[in-house]
Amino acid sequence: MLNAAVKTKADQRCENAHIENVSAHGKKAAILKKQTDLAIISELTAKDAASAVEKLCKLSGKPAEIAEAVRGVFGQKLIRRLCERCKQPYRPNPKLLKKVGLDESVTTLYKHRKFNEEEDARPCKVCGGGGYIGRIAMLELVEMTEGMKALVAKGASAADIKAQARKEKMLSFKDDGLRLVAEGTTSLEELQRAFRS
Ligand SMILES: [Zn+2]
Repeated sequence: MLNAAVKTKADQRCENAHIENVSAHGKKAAILKKQTDLAIISELTAKDAASAVEKLCKLSGKPAEIAEAVRGVFGQKLIRRLCERCKQPYRPNPKLLKKVGLDESVTTLYKHRKFNEEEDARPCKVCGGGGYIGRIAMLELVEMTEGMKALVAKGASAADIKAQARKEKMLSFKDDGLRLVAEGTTSLEELQRAFRS
């Protein structure tokens, strides 16, 4: 089925093909065989982007092949959005900003407002009193730069890949999550919860 899908895309002269979850070795081998023909976008279930690269190398058994074939891996983690109608602004303590890694120039952060029977006549109409509504993805990226390629080809661990990504200042879940907190899209509390779970 995968080969058929790739072939159809190639016949249609598409530049990209999207292949769902890569879990089996056979699927991965078929994808790698096609990688010179077209750009393939695929999915893999893993804890984060660095772990996905490690997993792909283990599935293949040939890390050097993965280092050559993969251009980059995006990770996404969902986080709850604050309700725009009832979120509560507060002025963060500069010490707290420093501790969590937020810029000192951030003067307002937001927290959720939970329905309180004693103070509120009725729950918020938008979120029903939970303080959050909907979710948004935090993104991270492991890009196959020359430095990353050399490391992955040697069969590096997820921790080593992560360290290299940090060194090369690639987007991380933490950076992207902090950006969402600074923008007021989510709360610091929710970000901490997402990292605990
Ligand atoms: Zn609300």
